Amino acid sequence: MPKPAARAENLTKIYGQGAMEVVALRSVSVSLVQGEFTAIMGPSGSGKSTLMHCLAGLDSISGGEVFLGDTALSSLGDKALTQLRRDEVGFIFQSFNLIPTLTAAENITLPLDIAGRKPDPGWFATVVDTVGLRDRLTHRPSELSGGQQQRVACARALVSRPAIIFADEPTGNLDSTASAEVLGFLRRSVDEFHQTIVMVTHEPSAAAYADRVIFLSDGQIVDSIRKPTAEGVLDKMKSLDTSQAADGEAEVVAEVVDATWSAEAAAPEAG
Ligand code: ADP
Repeated sequence: MPKPAARAENLTKIYGQGAMEVVALRSVSVSLVQGEFTAIMGPSGSGKSTLMHCLAGLDSISGGEVFLGDTALSSLGDKALTQLRRDEVGFIFQSFNLIPTLTAAENITLPLDIAGRKPDPGWFATVVDTVGLRDRLTHRPSELSGGQQQRVACARALVSRPAIIFADEPTGNLDSTASAEVLGFLRRSVDEFHQTIVMVTHEPSAAAYADRVIFLSDGQIVDSIRKPTAEGVLDKMKSLDTSQAADGEAEVVAEVVDATWSAEAAAPEAG
């Protein structure tokens, strides 16, 4: 049995207190196996981002435990946690998060530079060629397309050889051609370099690139499928939305209460 790159045991996350309390994750246990590409899906508000942030050590937890490799995150102080994240975790964001004044090459090596580590030249070349950026290395982000910028971000995540990469809606700002390029690259990095990747997405076509899809609903893992197809994922998502609709009345009441407390709650939800 391959070892997990990260895992959660009875992970609970509660935001706020008293009447404002929101249980975002309810005793979630999940194991993310090394060399696997896992997609996390679920309706808006089901806890996808919270799960990813907790697994990546970016957010505190209310109960249970999160492990990166063999290390229990609750055993670490702030400094050790920051260091573990820097050395072992890569991130890819929906909005690319590149530094506009740096070239593509400088953006790719930035995390290593901050850590005072030198990039391995052979690995750097492999990563750059895999994402097809060799002739764009001296360009700044404003001189690159969205797809190219996200490929820079993928290379940046991969170049330090992290134990696990977390990707938060990585294709959310890309057209279908650029999305396919980025997802194809993530897939190759799993197949060829044995990279472990966890991706939050709401697009069934993106989830179909993964080895496994985990479905969240109301803070719990309610299903998972292996070797997903876009159609299979879409069917599962529809059934989750239907079962949520059964709680519709309670939700409407909750929304009315929310709306009277804050005008923001009435604004359309992003994503
Ligand atoms: P998803 O990523 O699936 O849309 P989230 O993980 O963002 O879901 O949110 C799960 C639940 O936790 C939602 O009810 C959301 O409103 C709530 N939540 C998320 N972040 C916060 C926060 N910082 N403060 C209070 N509630 C939050």
